[in-house]
Amino acid sequence: MKNIQMVDLVSQYEGIKSEVDQAIMSVIEKAQFINGPEVSSFQKELEDYLKVKHVIPVANGTDALQIALMALGLKPGDEVITPSFTYIATTEVMALLGLKPVFVEVDPDTFCIKHDDIEKAITPKTKAIVPVHLYGQSAAMNEIMAVAKKHNLYVVEDNAQAIGCDYYHTDTHVVKTGTIGDIGCTSFFPSKNLGCYGDGGAMCTNDDELAAKIRMIANHGQSKRYHHDVVGCNSRLDSIQAAVLRIKLRKLDEYNDRRRAVADAYDQFFASFPEVKTPVRAINSKHVFHQYTVQLEGLDRDAMQAFLAEKNIPSMIYYPVPAHKQKMFAHFGSADTELPITDWLTERVISFPIHTEMTEEQQNFICKGIEEFILQNRK
Ligand SMILES: *Cc1c(COP(=O)(O)O)cnc(C)c1O
Repeated sequence: MKNIQMVDLVSQYEGIKSEVDQAIMSVIEKAQFINGPEVSSFQKELEDYLKVKHVIPVANGTDALQIALMALGLKPGDEVITPSFTYIATTEVMALLGLKPVFVEVDPDTFCIKHDDIEKAITPKTKAIVPVHLYGQSAAMNEIMAVAKKHNLYVVEDNAQAIGCDYYHTDTHVVKTGTIGDIGCTSFFPSKNLGCYGDGGAMCTNDDELAAKIRMIANHGQSKRYHHDVVGCNSRLDSIQAAVLRIKLRKLDEYNDRRRAVADAYDQFFASFPEVKTPVRAINSKHVFHQYTVQLEGLDRDAMQAFLAEKNIPSMIYYPVPAHKQKMFAHFGSADTELPITDWLTERVISFPIHTEMTEEQQNFICKGIEEFILQNRK
């Protein structure tokens, strides 16, 4: 049996090696490293896949979030409503731009922002909401868009973990996450569901004016060559990364199906263990399982991780410290914000290996290891 990893990118590469090698070599042979035809082709293909008017590729997902907030014209001191239970990039960019993240609780079932709590966090300074489609399923976008509309707020979706996820507005109206708010941001970090072989990211929007602004900001605020209208930055997707992403985009639905199959098998296995609360699948969202994250009840999480590590079974805690308690936000005084569900989750969640190349043998081995631990530690 192959060594078990959280994500097995080497085995995945073996399945697409000849295509990928050829595509990368072709970029090198033509020396079209920056803004080459691979980038514009990928952009069009991702627009078609997401059914969105504009995709703007950038250097990474964090840049995408930053540029999105810049394009909306937010000013220092403006407030942005966002969950604390997320990867730091979501909120770090706000602080970087002088915006104030206002942390809101998450739903204990879906791990995404608790939409009922958004309205009471709104102040005259609130300008935007940044929901995160955490672990691969959509936040409650219908409800979030309704609050945003009522209070005239922008919505920027952090879709870094959920590319390819379907959101059901109604039974008949299905859209991809990232295309619902004013701007959607995603990351092509290698371990993401659509990952490249280095850094990459993208934004998408259906708004022509916003798209033009985003393109300008990502390209040194340039309107035409050597004419710079606004302060921007330099954020581009490499041609080599775009070439890899074109190949992997064609497989994204199949890859997400495989992740779901692994999740289904875990769900079935854990059904007989009341100590493990399996991920709840929101009715409006088709989960793409970037992570398979459970909540432990009455089990020592550190002890479980150590026990599994002995057997070479990796596990991870996403995330052990919520954003509102990070030192970088100490000046906002956010550590005092009462977010009991967020605090509770950070102590109880654990993520098990999930990826496109998981074998039945590997997954059985993981499950048996977890079972052994639970049986030994049952109270
Ligand atoms: C990965 C990730 C990001 C940042 O993406 P990078 O490409 O690493 O900059 C932002 N938000 C979330 C929720 C992520 O998981």
